[in-house]
Amino acid sequence: MIIVDLGKHLKQILMAFELPQLNYAYDALEPHIDARTMEIHHSKHHNGYTNNLNTAIAGTDLETKSIETILGDLDMSNKALRNNGGGFYNHSLFWNVMNPEGKEALSGELKDAILLAYGTFEDFKSAFSKAAATQFGSGWAWLCVHKGGKVEVCSTPNQDNPLMPGVSCSGTPILGLDVWEHAYYLNYQNRRPDYIEAFFSVINWTEVEKRFSVAK
Ligand code: MN
Repeated sequence: MIIVDLGKHLKQILMAFELPQLNYAYDALEPHIDARTMEIHHSKHHNGYTNNLNTAIAGTDLETKSIETILGDLDMSNKALRNNGGGFYNHSLFWNVMNPEGKEALSGELKDAILLAYGTFEDFKSAFSKAAATQFGSGWAWLCVHKGGKVEVCSTPNQDNPLMPGVSCSGTPILGLDVWEHAYYLNYQNRRPDYIEAFFSVINWTEVEKRFSVAK
């Protein structure tokens, strides 16, 4: 009996999604994104999505699935899984596409794909910034890649993302910007455009290019 209970307990530990650690300190993105916002965002908001995702899948066959598979096959009427699975995935991507140095420039195949779709980097930046600024209320702006390498900018509400079925944009997200107020309000208050501009100073293009190469 003890062995059976231990086995179940271990299985739950092994299968649960874990809050990913940041590759940098909470204050590493200052002055663009402040340490207090980063700490609350990661340790409270993202942690909450992670725990609620684990609760939503507990005891179901989803416990053995990847987050990408869970979101791709999602029943969009399952609000708990949609919000928390999306929240878990979106923030995991978000932390990884930012870089404390903030000096890495876009290059290579991704640069070519962006120039093909938008003409110039500034035009791409304008399209991405507009998607982020005009997403009403809470949501995300994305740069996605389709099979074949075509890139596309779009936005989604709440914690939706392009992996989910029936969402207005599709493809694999390779760059994401959180435009929920919790992502910027402490430092920027209502000035979402300033926060969007600041984001471009901390994008980790090396990571975005890596994700492009894998997904194209
Ligand atoms: Mn967030």
